[in-house]
Amino acid sequence: MTLFERIIARQIPAEIVYEDDQVIAFHDISPKAPIHVLLIPKKVIPRMGEVQPSDVGVLGHLLLTVPLLALKLGVAETGYRLVINNGSDGGETVPHLHCHLLGGRPLGWPPG
Ligand code: 5GP
Repeated sequence: MTLFERIIARQIPAEIVYEDDQVIAFHDISPKAPIHVLLIPKKVIPRMGEVQPSDVGVLGHLLLTVPLLALKLGVAETGYRLVINNGSDGGETVPHLHCHLLGGRPLGWPPG
């Protein structure tokens, strides 16, 4: 099981902020901003580079969840950033597709 599957299965504790039948969102254990939440599909897709046409439904649902999550986290008005790391240069460390939602302070650009 991936680390995130173990969180979905409640084998590892996490501060869950949203969950439905297709996705789950929880606070990152090592936050890089005042708000740093990981939004992931429950289906294990290793990374963006491996998405399949059959994933269109879950990926669409994941993105449609973002504004609801942002409202819930209090950053809908102030703004936020979505990040998906892919592969070693992208900084991916967990091979289970996840979207970082970062906010709560002005975020620099370009990223490091
Ligand atoms: P990546 O580097 O793959 O884009 O993101 C993985 C993220 O998972 C990192 O930001 C890291 O802090 C977070 N993370 C790693 N282990 C855990 C954990 O056990 N619980 C939670 N909530 N987040 C984790």
